[in-house]
Amino acid sequence: MGHLPLGWSALKHLIVLGATGSIGRQTIEVARRIGLPIHTIAARSASDVLLELAMSLPDARVCVVDPADRQDEFRAVLGERLHLGKGSITEAAATPDSTVVNGIVGAEGLAPTLAALYADNRLALANKESLVAGGPLVLQALHERDGELVPIDSEHSAIWQCLQGERHGDVSRVILTASGGPFLGWNVDELEAVTPAQALDHPTWSMGPRISVDSATLMNKAFEVIEAHYLFGFTYDRIDVVIHPQSLVHSFVEFADGVVKAEVGRPDMRKPIQYAITTPSRLGTEFQPFDPVEAEWTFAYPDREAFPSLELGYAAGRSGGTATAVLNAADEVAVESFLGGRIGFTDIPRVVERVLDRHEARRPLGLEDLMAVDAEARAHAREVCASLER
Ligand code: MG
Repeated sequence: MGHLPLGWSALKHLIVLGATGSIGRQTIEVARRIGLPIHTIAARSASDVLLELAMSLPDARVCVVDPADRQDEFRAVLGERLHLGKGSITEAAATPDSTVVNGIVGAEGLAPTLAALYADNRLALANKESLVAGGPLVLQALHERDGELVPIDSEHSAIWQCLQGERHGDVSRVILTASGGPFLGWNVDELEAVTPAQALDHPTWSMGPRISVDSATLMNKAFEVIEAHYLFGFTYDRIDVVIHPQSLVHSFVEFADGVVKAEVGRPDMRKPIQYAITTPSRLGTEFQPFDPVEAEWTFAYPDREAFPSLELGYAAGRSGGTATAVLNAADEVAVESFLGGRIGFTDIPRVVERVLDRHEARRPLGLEDLMAVDAEARAHAREVCASLER
């Protein structure tokens, strides 16, 4: 077990949003490993996994958005510890003196992101939709308050670590690595026939269904380009993507003098999660050592024709404002339709492109305005999906 800097654990409550997901469960594992108590766990539904987590953390507050028919059962077991409704999540995110790990999937993560930042908390962000959908609002929150935003996404954690001690103006380019997903090297014809089961089988990272499909289309990388833009303030022509199937180099930063830094190691989300929680300290924990002799790595340019989602991300990013919220909403609907067997794999970017084409990007006025844009884009995406149904 590692040692926390003196007084550190007493100052920060750890709030885990999306506790039953891949990031949430690994966050709880990291917290246990470094001996950090967990103040709150939050999840969308009243699942067995959540109940089990709640019982293993007898002091934690438990927030559930929608308990459905299990409210009485959960109340009987958890009593006063149980908090219900969407508001309970934003309230948890606003707990004073907290580190909030946002591992929620989808645009629903934006409201708690803003709540955490407006409460001057440290937000350890895995919910990339917060920045893809609500980048301008997140920047505004950071500008107005004293909240702190640190990335959990492995590529962004790498860039963040490479940037430490450097000056922003000295960076010439960041290069995000992408595993390429399960269909690396496939052509358009082969991609037409991809099934949901194939798309859910990711070679290096184990993740939830939406992000697995987004990794297979490269939309996830498109989101990460936008995420990098908002996190670090680089223009889109300074953000590149390179395919690196082994996921050993988590990203590069190139400087004005030609020096290139990279963060390297075995792919393991517990590392960026732990660093986001403990920064600026690095706590000694058990890990599998990295062996450069054993490591084999290759790099290639992405196939932008077979995977048009990447370009759609750059285009939406350059349009800015509400455009990337529309990108996210349309993609979420298209992925759902694909997983439901209603549209094909290559229809996903088609749906997104059509919805984006009809949208006129503008500055979002606030969370409510953005949610209206999101709802409109979803409705449009459903129409497009229905027209493509086979
Ligand atoms: Mg990533």
